[in-house]
Amino acid sequence: MNDNVPDVRFAAPDEIAEPDYDPAVYKTLLESTKAIPWKIDWATMRFAYIGPQIEALLGWKQDSWISVEDWATRIHPEDRDYVVNFCVTQSQAGVDHEADYRALTPDGGYVWIRDVVHVARNADGDVDSLVGFMFDISERKKTEQELLHLQRDLEAMSFEDGLTRIANRRMFDNHLESEFASAAKSGQPLSMIMLDIDHFKQFNDRYGHLQGDDCLRRVAARLKSLATRPRDIVARYGGEEFVLLLPDTDAAAALDYAPRCVDVLAELQIPHENSSCGQFVTASLGVGTIVRSEDMSAVGFTEQVDQLLYAAKRGGRNRIEAGS
Ligand code: GH3
Ligand code: MG
Ligand code: MG
Repeated sequence: MNDNVPDVRFAAPDEIAEPDYDPAVYKTLLESTKAIPWKIDWATMRFAYIGPQIEALLGWKQDSWISVEDWATRIHPEDRDYVVNFCVTQSQAGVDHEADYRALTPDGGYVWIRDVVHVARNADGDVDSLVGFMFDISERKKTEQELLHLQRDLEAMSFEDGLTRIANRRMFDNHLESEFASAAKSGQPLSMIMLDIDHFKQFNDRYGHLQGDDCLRRVAARLKSLATRPRDIVARYGGEEFVLLLPDTDAAAALDYAPRCVDVLAELQIPHENSSCGQFVTASLGVGTIVRSEDMSAVGFTEQVDQLLYAAKRGGRNRIEAGS
């Protein structure tokens, strides 16, 4: 259990010494703790007692807690069914239990509560009442939520390329793996386009590395805008190399798609004075499609498309080389 919330264990009746105390002392003690004590009579399902601290915590007056209905209606609608059903079932089975939920405040806000419940029995062993404590666990929940968000951010970051904010190589590898397996199973074609910017080293030499970064960001954003279907993925494969994975896309459709990559790049009109391919930044593309993947691995397929890309480079750059 969390350090903010003490472990609560209710003593069995035979563990409790005969009372030789002043009840007022115990009442003062109970009502000065941060935990809010309460008792519900089992036969009537009404509150026999609730600590006055409840008003400071939730805002509802002490005497407004009449029956379990008041308790149930002051639980967040998303938590209510689960918590009420769980507590009723456990109580009927005579099992001590605890539940975390959001408790409603009069102004419509919510406070995270942990309710720790003991089922008290009478001398005949029948359930007599429920007694328990409510703890304010909102700080702890806040920390938990923050950690959860942090974890999600980190997860997202680990699949995102830091410079261009599109999918990174790891994300691509994961997608390739699963799309490759799914294509093998369904017999649907799977296409891949590899795109490498031409003479990018010279671009950096001429305009500087920061301009180079900016160029990569702009190219990535344009390529990403081409991936319109949910399973299409555009990733930064390496330095100035991008890859598009297009499930359920045959060779003809991929060949139709590749010139659009060239077009979006051309539309950017990023000057490249040191290029032998023209006055603007261009790229070379390799386009491959696999239909039945039984006799080739995902790595083999990637290598094949990479070879096509290099054929495009050898063939003079600023061109598309396709194969299947
Ligand atoms: P080719 O036409 O044959 O592809 O020639 P190239 O110059 O584009 O290819 P090469 O592999 O010789 O050089 C790639 C260049 O890309 C070198 C490297 O500095 C640059 N590069 C890689 N990653 C980044 C990056 O994140 N930012 C910038 N600005 N440059 C990068
Ligand atoms: Mg290059
Ligand atoms: Mg390269």
